[in-house]
Amino acid sequence: MMDLTGKTALITGASRGIGKAIALKLAGQGANIAIPYLGDPAEAEQAQKEIEALGVKCVMYVCDVSSFEASKEVVEKVIEEFGGVDILVNNAGIVRDKLILSMKEEDFDMVINVNLKGAFNMIKHTYSHFMKKRRGRIISISSIVGLNGNAGQANYSSSKAGLIGLTKSTAKELGGRNITVNAIAPGFIDTDMTQQLSDKVKDAMKAQIPMKRPGTPEDIANLALFLASDEASYITGEVIRVDGGYAM
Ligand code: NAP
Repeated sequence: MMDLTGKTALITGASRGIGKAIALKLAGQGANIAIPYLGDPAEAEQAQKEIEALGVKCVMYVCDVSSFEASKEVVEKVIEEFGGVDILVNNAGIVRDKLILSMKEEDFDMVINVNLKGAFNMIKHTYSHFMKKRRGRIISISSIVGLNGNAGQANYSSSKAGLIGLTKSTAKELGGRNITVNAIAPGFIDTDMTQQLSDKVKDAMKAQIPMKRPGTPEDIANLALFLASDEASYITGEVIRVDGGYAM
């Protein structure tokens, strides 16, 4: 079940957090892993060691996914070094939270460029490769705030809502080629990204979650593994919440 032996997964931003958990989960089923990350070498080296310890190949690439050209170069390198890509996971993401009143133009642009355009860049540069293969999986990490919005996150929630449109359009374009394209919408997950929040905000969020706890990166990784597997071959254009019931 869910065997990925010999497959290659390209997972952006998998040097830590949710992406790393997805990389470890897919590697545990035999997938080789390629990771574009922004540039925290200590975290990246640690992630690479843990992934390789599972007996698969893992290569880290310093790459700003918001750059069209840098993304193209990395995709080409991955295809050359691994012989192809079977699974693309658009996970890299950032926040620059502020109310619109004090949000600067660059706060908006930067978050859109990394979270949304970064995913477009990766899809664009793997697109013809997937088409030729007539097989593939694309999974993008959206968010429940892409579904519901959130005060203080106009930039982030716009990027995550945009990822849902990108997912559905790509699913419609590539469905006939046996390529599935889905989005995961995590709720409040315990990672560096949410560590920045004050205890007061965290407690208020937890109180609103029917399951009364934050999620773990593994909760997201379990769904990513399923969507990447043969078992999920007839699921496409879907957005699945993993949020302990938060956004229902
Ligand atoms: P995280 O711990 O902050 O990790 C972010 C990862 O993205 C890091 O590997 C980082 O690389 C990489 N990254 C950032 N900017 C990049 C860029 N321009 N190019 C390439 N890589 C870049 O975040 P996380 O909590 O695991 O979140 C992962 C994804 O899940 C994000 O898309 C996030 O929006 C989404 N999400 C998270 C939550 C949550 O509660 N945590 C909820 C919903 C959705 P470096 O280490 O080199 O900086």
